[in-house]
This record gives sequence, structure tokens and C-alpha cells, in this order.
Amino acid sequence: MLGYIDCHCHISARDFDEDLDDVIENAKKAGLLALLAVAEHAGEFEKIIGLSQRFPGFIFPALGVHPVQEVSPEQQRGASLQDLAAALPLIENYKDQLVAIGEVGLDFTPRFVSGESDKDDQRKVLIQQAQIAKQLDLPLNVHSRSAGRPTIQLLKEQGVEKALLHAFDGRPAVAMEGVRAGYLFSIPPSVVRSEQQKLVKQLPLENICLETDSPALGPEKQVRNEPQNVRISAEFISRVKGVSLQSVMEVTTQNALRLFPRIKPALLP
Ligand SMILES: [Zn+2]
Repeated sequence: MLGYIDCHCHISARDFDEDLDDVIENAKKAGLLALLAVAEHAGEFEKIIGLSQRFPGFIFPALGVHPVQEVSPEQQRGASLQDLAAALPLIENYKDQLVAIGEVGLDFTPRFVSGESDKDDQRKVLIQQAQIAKQLDLPLNVHSRSAGRPTIQLLKEQGVEKALLHAFDGRPAVAMEGVRAGYLFSIPPSVVRSEQQKLVKQLPLENICLETDSPALGPEKQVRNEPQNVRISAEFISRVKGVSLQSVMEVTTQNALRLFPRIKPALLP
């Protein structure tokens, strides 16, 4: 399989409304085979499904409720079971088209959680989605911020076997617990300016995938990130691991297809 897979991006973000065709074209020119479009809330599910139909065999949909919900551009709060209730009928409706449940997870950044009960609300939302993923036999696409250990612990307690930990900010030793549980970790282009470099050093290549988290987590802060930048992650991994760019491409793409098997048939010529 010659090409990259962006395992986590927000291609439904309004940032791409104006020039989406160019963004997709540039991604393909940069060597992308496919991208996973993840959701944050029920309000964007239909748009994501629509995009996956407009770019069949290239944009693959994942639906889920993010641990942080936006009230307005200035105001955000932790996710609640009401947010999940709005999402459930749509997930049920589109379950046969999904390649993953996500973006789900835990975010214990102090400004989103004021105490244990806020954390518990997020846990409840994640637990339910972990169970749905198991019922549907789909992998989870997981966010964790300031919550590396609680996230991996919860996934293991829930018996989750297939998960991608995206932009993991926990300690490498905690990540290795995830590796032992069989989880994969995706590395965004912001790795060139972040603490994640230590994580890349420690993770076995067999547990690494590529992502961009576009439009966030680009190589430069405040500049819109795009799926084509997945190459920057790959180049970084190639340098840190001392393996060729070609092998990083091949191994990370095989890893992605192992975790998200529903992508595979669509890529075969
Ligand atoms: Zn994301």
C-alpha cells in the first residue's frame, strides 16, 4: 500500500468550507490514500457522512461525542449524557458506514473540569461509547488531555481491545501500558514543536499511526493544519527512529488498516 493514512482529522471543520476540493487534491498529491474524519458532536454528523459520500474511498467517517463540547467559540464545557443522547440515534442510523467511534475520550484540563463530578460525567460518556464500539465491533478514536493514565485505565477496564490514542500527552511509561493492551498511538505534525518527541522514541513503530488533527496541531501554531502535513509526522518519525520514510509509510499504513479494517476494501484497485 503506497501512501499515508491520516487517522484523525476534522475535515468537517468550517475552516475547510471554502477550499475543500483543493485541500483534498493537495492531500492526494502529497501521497495520502485516505483520511479518517472524526466528529466532536451530533450537530456535525450529517456533514461528515455527506463528505464521506462526496469523496468515496478517500474520506472515511467516524462519529462520536468529544469530551469537551463547545457552547460558543469562547465557551467550552465537559460532555454530558445529554450530548450523547443526541448522538445515539445517528450513530445507530449510520453504523454500517462507520470505520470507528470517535472522537471520544477524557479531557481533564483544569478549565473544563471543576471537580470529580465533572470528571465522572466525562467517564460516563466515554464508557457508553466504549460499549457501543464493542457492540458494533468498531475501534475507538480517542482523545486524552491531562488524562493519559485515567483514559488508558478506563479503556482497559471496559475491555476495549481496539483503540487509537490520538496526540497522547501522557508520559511515555503510561503510553507503554497502552501498547501492552494493544493500542495504537497517532502522531500529529505538531510533534516537531512538542514534548511528544520522547513518546515517538519509546513507542514501537508497530504501534504508531499518522494523523494531523487538522485544522489543529500543525507544525506552526496558529496556522491552519491540513491532511497533506501528515508527511511532516512521517518525516519526523523516520528521523527519530532512524528508518527510511518509505518504511514509516508502509508500517504506519499497515497499522492503520489493521486497526480500521473497513478502510481496506475501499482502497483496493
Ligand atoms: Zn481531534
